[in-house]
Amino acid sequence: MIAEVCINYQDANVDKTFDYLVPEHLEELVEVGKRVYVNFGVSNRVVEGLIVNVKEDTNIEKEKLKRIFSVIDKIPVVSEEQIKLAFSIRDYYALKLGQALELVIPPFISNKDIYQISAKTDQEIDLEGELKEIYKKILKRPISANSKFAKENKEKIISLFLKGLLKYELKPLKSLEDKKENMLTEPQYGLTDEQNRALDVIKTAFDEGVYKNILLFGVTGSGKTEVYIQAMKYVIEKGKSVILMVPEISLTPQMIESVKNRLNTTVVVYHSKMSSLQRQMAWLKLKSGEAKVVIGPRSAIFAPAKELGLIIVDEEHEPSYKAEKSPRINAVEVAQMRAKINNIPVVLGSATPMVEHYYWAISGKYLLCTLKSRVNMTMPEVFVVDMKKELLEGNKSIFSRLLLSEIEKNLQKGEQVLLFLNRRGYSPVVICRECGYVYMCKNCSISLTYHKSGYLKCHYCNYKEKYTGICPKCGSKYVRQYGSGTQRIEDEIKMYFKDAKILRMDKDTTTRKDAIEEILNRFKRKEADILVGTQMIAKGLHFPDLTLVGVINADTILNMPDFRSKERTFQLLTQVAGRAGREKQGRVIIQTFNPDDYSIVAASKHDYESFFREEIKLRKAMGYPPYAYIVNFVVVSQNEKYAQRGIENVYRLLEEYSKTADAKIYGPSESPIFKVENQYRYHILVKFKKALQMIDVANKIKERYNYNNAELIIDVNPWNTL
Ligand code: ADP
Ligand code: ZN
Ligand code: ZN
Repeated sequence: MIAEVCINYQDANVDKTFDYLVPEHLEELVEVGKRVYVNFGVSNRVVEGLIVNVKEDTNIEKEKLKRIFSVIDKIPVVSEEQIKLAFSIRDYYALKLGQALELVIPPFISNKDIYQISAKTDQEIDLEGELKEIYKKILKRPISANSKFAKENKEKIISLFLKGLLKYELKPLKSLEDKKENMLTEPQYGLTDEQNRALDVIKTAFDEGVYKNILLFGVTGSGKTEVYIQAMKYVIEKGKSVILMVPEISLTPQMIESVKNRLNTTVVVYHSKMSSLQRQMAWLKLKSGEAKVVIGPRSAIFAPAKELGLIIVDEEHEPSYKAEKSPRINAVEVAQMRAKINNIPVVLGSATPMVEHYYWAISGKYLLCTLKSRVNMTMPEVFVVDMKKELLEGNKSIFSRLLLSEIEKNLQKGEQVLLFLNRRGYSPVVICRECGYVYMCKNCSISLTYHKSGYLKCHYCNYKEKYTGICPKCGSKYVRQYGSGTQRIEDEIKMYFKDAKILRMDKDTTTRKDAIEEILNRFKRKEADILVGTQMIAKGLHFPDLTLVGVINADTILNMPDFRSKERTFQLLTQVAGRAGREKQGRVIIQTFNPDDYSIVAASKHDYESFFREEIKLRKAMGYPPYAYIVNFVVVSQNEKYAQRGIENVYRLLEEYSKTADAKIYGPSESPIFKVENQYRYHILVKFKKALQMIDVANKIKERYNYNNAELIIDVNPWNTL
């Protein structure tokens, strides 16, 4: 028996494993995911390693193989399934093994507080002197791995480990503060036919025990959550666990509550912003199998759910599932890898599915379940206002006449209004009218946003400087602010409606912990008539008295130089519109300079299919997903020359490898946003016809790229190429 061991497995730069011989007496103990003591290096010092694979053969000569001394853990710290997931992630995203392991191994597994050391058997063993005393003590009662005793006798305890006498195990769970009280609630209604059909599809796929993608395509308010809950119940009753992914935890308190109140199991929340202790508790509850449901954003897909039976991704189209920083994983893709490893279904829920996913659903690769109508209400009525026409007719305000008069109506009726704008701050651009100077960030190629606090801020790197009103280039006083952010909307609305009470929700008003919940609760209690906000207010909110939604400028995303910009526009508009009239008839007003764009027209008609038909034509013509697999190779450095040299290296390698693959290379060129946080960025976009070729080439580039002066980031299936 051979064990493949990763040394320094908590170092992201590690990319190698070593084969070790497993002595016969350890064969029963050796398991993937356990830690072991082995000799390492020329000096043969004893180090800790992690078993990542167990096999029968190796290419290395038997005589040269070193042996495993001792197995540390009683139960694997990372399950075999999680290690397999790490390997899949490493291969697909062309990462180093350490980067992938880092995702599935939480840092606290090396925190000794959660472990105890105990004897392997209850027999006395013949030992010499001090070893005997220590062993006796541990035999009597397990010691905490972090105790003074354990530290003072470290060397001797290790040698007892090497003799195979001790084991390392998680301390038993004691403090189950929020043990489930059986206060389960059930709704009064039964499922609709459409919901029942969707539920059946999920149950069948689960029973069959095969990997399947199920796209649950249902408009907002069509009862997707109810389907999730019923499906979870079914899976839990069969003793399996569920991961429920949500785009952002702070925006989904309602959903978490209803899941907790409906399921007869401990439900844990798992995300990277939790305190380390909270995260440890959640981790232990999942690992012990006490909790069968875990809810969370991106990182929840790595949670140690035991005997996983189902993965649900709510709002599967949300960009927050894709990591913006390296490693650029996409939790939806990872969910698919994990489902495949476990032979289980993954449910992708959305009112506005990702174009690729819908394409695969209608072409039969995924199962498609549709919920066509809202359960209780009709869809809101949507009006598109052409802002060019407003200008021509003499209205220079950022608000159209229609929007103003509809707000007026709502205020009179005592109903609420949501105003959406995808930009925070007061004004996104500040320009000198004398010399044309545009205020730019010192660290990024991004214009500075003027904030009411009197500062100019960079929204990429948080750089800020005091606004003087005098042009730094020519000294002129004719400096002007252009465009609107949420602060300006709030100010100007106050000028039109003096008595209206307004709340604003964006990154600036929500820096404090719990600020989001506070603002939402105040709005819910009707302490305000109007809520102004960015994307944050687009998702999942449900306010009975909210009957009017205004989109101030639908063009901010449409104008981005990116192949998903139409898709994002359609999704965002549909989503914001979905906030209106959840209980009473609602209206939506979309202001735009592009009233004929198909993404805006389709959104105004709640017509996903017609949006999809146009979009897929374009994707095909341009050779973008789902008609190609794309990788963005980005090279970054503080030094522009180095970044350039780095990307040239990548280009040479690509030329070499792409000959055998069906690939098109675009670039190298400067990234659309050339400088971010003082790092210069060059990129090459490559389109492949086949997924396997993409993976193959990306991994070869990763292995061969060895220019140390500039970092290479490989973005597989990027969300955008900015
Ligand atoms: P979605 O997740 O698709 O946006 P929800 O699951 O939040 O929709 O459902 C919207 C509303 O409809 C909720 O208040 C929910 O309680 C209610 N609902 C869901 N299913 C039914 C049903 N079968 N009959 C009546 N009401 C339902
Ligand atoms: Zn000037
Ligand atoms: Zn900046």
